Amino acid sequence: MVRVNENYLRLPGSYLFAEIGRRVAKFKEDHPNANIIRLGIGDVTRPLAQSVIKSLHEAVDEMADEKTFKGYGPEQGYDFLIKKVIEYDYKPLGIDLDEDEVFISDGSKCDTGNIQEIFGIDNIIAVTDPVYPVYVDSNVMAGRAGVLDENGKFDRVVYLPCNAENNFIPELPKERVDMIYLCYPNNPTGMTLSKDELKKWVDYARENKSVILYDGAYEAYIQEEGVPHSIYEIEGAKEVAIEFRSFSKTAGFTGTRCAYTILPKTVKAYTESGEPVSLNKLWNRRQTTKFNGVSYIIQKAAAAVYTEEGQKEIKEIINYYMTNAKIIREGLMSIGLQVFGGVNAPYIWLKTPNNMSSWTFFDKLLNEVNIVGTPGVGFGPSGEGYFRLTAFGSRQSTIEAIERIKTGLKL
Ligand code: PLP
Repeated sequence: MVRVNENYLRLPGSYLFAEIGRRVAKFKEDHPNANIIRLGIGDVTRPLAQSVIKSLHEAVDEMADEKTFKGYGPEQGYDFLIKKVIEYDYKPLGIDLDEDEVFISDGSKCDTGNIQEIFGIDNIIAVTDPVYPVYVDSNVMAGRAGVLDENGKFDRVVYLPCNAENNFIPELPKERVDMIYLCYPNNPTGMTLSKDELKKWVDYARENKSVILYDGAYEAYIQEEGVPHSIYEIEGAKEVAIEFRSFSKTAGFTGTRCAYTILPKTVKAYTESGEPVSLNKLWNRRQTTKFNGVSYIIQKAAAAVYTEEGQKEIKEIINYYMTNAKIIREGLMSIGLQVFGGVNAPYIWLKTPNNMSSWTFFDKLLNEVNIVGTPGVGFGPSGEGYFRLTAFGSRQSTIEAIERIKTGLKL
């Protein structure tokens, strides 16, 4: 009798977006003429930059010529892209990386989901709460998270609450943890950590021989001076941190697919007898066995992001979204709502008025002003009483949504 991986049966259903879909469908059925604006999804809407498109076309032409045709590429990514990552994303921050410390991939979802494979099954993981669900779910699938309790928490996962009371700064865990997932700028809260706060985590990881899995998918949205762009800006982080970055939100590659993971050779995990093992070697082994690289065409497109023109174009797109974020933030604040994020990230995290539950506010927003957002509780128990709006919509729909909230929402 063939057996299933029963760990999968421990996963809660993908309740959040299914339930949003169900409620929106019902509302549409009851109100067929309603003009619904969706500020819930975390997907981009602006087309790819012109330099990226040009590079894509050129790469396609190369594939049509036997002199420039490419078959399998290096599993770790092409040199031309790895060199650009090092030179443009890390050198300016004073961070030196070797080429074999950069792994190009087809997305940070896969990388943040797959990375747990190279760690022991008995490790204790810690996540902020609320959290991007991939970190927890991938550990549940592997059998590392334990079982789900009635509060929506897995019993072998350490949850680090982030809320208005602690200004969304997670406290160091009281118990020892091994794998620490941090995401800054944060999805879903849109908040950041200062260098001093981040240093506490790096120091903790060094003292406890833990590893930090640092998701920087929204790094390009940082606007304020002094906010760390990379965890390697913190002294000692190269011993204990793996960093994930993506072209998805930086350059509109959500459908095009390209990302990268930085795994310094100095990051170690230990055997049962305490022997240190370089995680870089293990990740390389994992990738060469299970992954065959990102297509040449797509890596060429990603490389165009680093040209002078490409940089200018992606900055304009990011500014477009960040102007939306400002419109949302200021609009909500003007009617007295308590608002977080949206300054260094495309996400606005608001406290629901009158201590309403996340889902009650969802229904209120949908019914009164026909706007769809994401209930905060869907990202973890500490998200209850919060709500996420995204700045990835068009300017016109963002302005209209905020006008409707200002004039039509009954507070
Ligand atoms: N990490 C975070 C925090 C995200 O919010 C997302 C996408 O929404 C990802 C990673 C996934 O990025 P990618 O498109 O590179 O898979």
